[in-house]
Parts: sequence; C-alpha cells; structure tokens
Amino acid sequence: MAVAKRDIVAGPPELKGRSVPDLEVMMLNLGEKKYRAQQVYDAIYVERRSTFDEFTVLPQALREKLAAETRLESVRVDTVQHSDDGTKKFLFTLHDDRKVESVLIPSELIEDDGHPRRRTLCVSTQVGCNLGCQFCATATLKLARNLTAGEIVDQFLQAQLYSTKPITNVVFMGMGEPMNNYDNVMAAVDILNDQRTKMVAPRRTTLSTAGVVPGIIRMADEKRIIKLAVSLHATTQGVREQLMPIAKKWPLTELMEAIEYYYQKTRKSVTYEYILFEGLNDGEDDVKRLARLARRLPTKVNVIPFHDIDFTHPQGFAADLRPTSPQKFQWFLDRLREEGVQVFIRSSSGQDIDAACGQLALSA
Ligand code: SF4
Repeated sequence: MAVAKRDIVAGPPELKGRSVPDLEVMMLNLGEKKYRAQQVYDAIYVERRSTFDEFTVLPQALREKLAAETRLESVRVDTVQHSDDGTKKFLFTLHDDRKVESVLIPSELIEDDGHPRRRTLCVSTQVGCNLGCQFCATATLKLARNLTAGEIVDQFLQAQLYSTKPITNVVFMGMGEPMNNYDNVMAAVDILNDQRTKMVAPRRTTLSTAGVVPGIIRMADEKRIIKLAVSLHATTQGVREQLMPIAKKWPLTELMEAIEYYYQKTRKSVTYEYILFEGLNDGEDDVKRLARLARRLPTKVNVIPFHDIDFTHPQGFAADLRPTSPQKFQWFLDRLREEGVQVFIRSSSGQDIDAACGQLALSA
C-alpha cells in the first residue's frame, strides 16, 4: 500500500487512514519497534477498537504514548437522522470543527431474516465542493478542504456502529469530488478493500466522478479494480455545461475518450448517472443520444429522480430545474430499455431527511 500525501489538519497526527508502511515510519519516529505497526493497524481495523485502553496487545506504556502523541478519533458522530425508509444520515464533526455527512442506505431487497440484502454507505471526500453542479446542494458550500484518508475511513467505522449487520457497499458519492482528493481517497480505498480488515470488497466499492478526466486516466493507468461511475446527466455539450460547469474544462468528447481508455485498460464496465430534469434532458433525442453513448462500451445507466434542493435557496438556472413527471420518468426508462441499454433506477432513499442524491448540505 502506498503512503498517502496528507493535508495538514491541526492537532496530533491521526492513526486512522495510514497504511502499515506508514504506521511503521510512525512507530520508528516514536522510538518503537516496526512490528508494532501491524498490531496498531489490526487493533483499529480488524478488532475495531475505539479507545487506546482496548489496544490490549500493546504494552501500557505504548498505549499511553499513543494517547499522548496521536489521535485515534478522526470523525465524531454529531447527529444521526433516521428516515422512514430506514436510511440514516450521519453528521460528523471533524477535528477542526468542520462538518461532513454520510448516508447509510438499506437496499429494498430483504433477506429471510428481515434485514436488507445490501447496506450501502455513501461517504464524503471533501468539506464542501467547488465544482458547482447546478442540481447539487453541496455545491452551495464552498470547498473548505480535502478530507484525510483517516476521516474517510472513519466515516465507515463510525457508521458501522449504528448497523447491526455489516455495511456491504461503499460509494464515494457524498460531499465533494473524490478525484480532486485522489491520494487520500485511494489510501482510504486500500484500507477499506484490504482483505485483512474485512470492511468492503473492491467490487462493492464505487467511485463517482463529475467527469474529472485526469482522475479517470489515473485510475485506468493504476488499473484500479473498484467500480467507476460517471455523472453524465446530459448528452450534449451545451446542456452538460449548463448543469455542470466542469464540462467546460473537460468537454463531453474528452470525457468519453477517457472513459473508453479506462475500459481498454481495465476491462471494467462503467456506470453512467443520469438525473432527469423536466424539459431539459428527458426527450426522445436525449434517449437516442444516451443510448448511443451507453452502447459504446459495457455500461449501465442509473436514472435518478431530481431531488428538491429548495432548502439551499437556488437562484438563476438552478432555481428553474424541475423533476420529470413520474409518467415521463417511466417512459424514459422504457425507451432506454427498448434501445438495448441496461437501465436501473437509483432510488430516492432518505429524501424526507434531505439525504437523497445531491441533497447533502449540512442541513442538519
Ligand atoms: S454533484 Fe458532486 S461534484 Fe457536483 S457539486 Fe455536488 S458534490 Fe460537487
């Protein structure tokens, strides 16, 4: 595992988010033996200890040294909101008093024991976001900073404490653009996907990008085996630019070339996210163009209802965005299927607590 570059966050150094080699350097700097690193790593991720007193494999003196000179807690649960559909939204406080949110979403498929088959945690990667997608509540918060790898992994560890069954899937779709915090996100992925930690499998880990082309190319070159999702939302350069200013920097043609390059390198299918807006991207021409794009390589398309962000008081273009009617939504799905596209509906879980897609804005 690579040693991640870190953003400076005030306070003692974090223990979470570090690979074993990184912890080995830390142990040596503390005047300890290298092998202690693996013990610390296991105590955090395998045994999931939450206080230094519980690191019983370590001598008392080392536990005290770690407590004095390092930090075990990377995020603290501030509030947990419960939706009627079983979704939980977590508000976390960070070490510098900034806040981020995660959402734990149960799947609609229920197992024999009455528990949902999948439990998906949508994690944040930045405090705020500067990409300005018009439909997104997070965009109203300016980017304050990147999250550290520890703050990303700890969202998982803390949320897990609120679920009797293991979290099965992780999606990097919360606050922030994961590609703009690539090193810390991938350091967190390495820990989450490490078989030793038994946290989550790579095939159940998805990184969603608004279309940061260099990040897609880097994932391809590194042959990353997590899943890639791309927020497409429009099939013409003009509409995409209106919805997502990032499209001016990386136009649709360049984005599609990067996605094809990713597929050539990894042979992994790609998911397109497509929010339906009334009169903007929900017509017959959109169906045809989307189907043409989707058929260029193995893909699936997640069609997503637009969720109200009125609580952020949107203005201008954003204020005029409206959800497609349920009838038109169904028509769009049917037409895409007729065109041979693999289509899924991304559900509106947690909408009553502003936890649905695009609604994370620290409204709690
Ligand atoms: S959709 Fe994602 S990338 Fe776009 S503004 Fe929101 S958080 Fe940022």
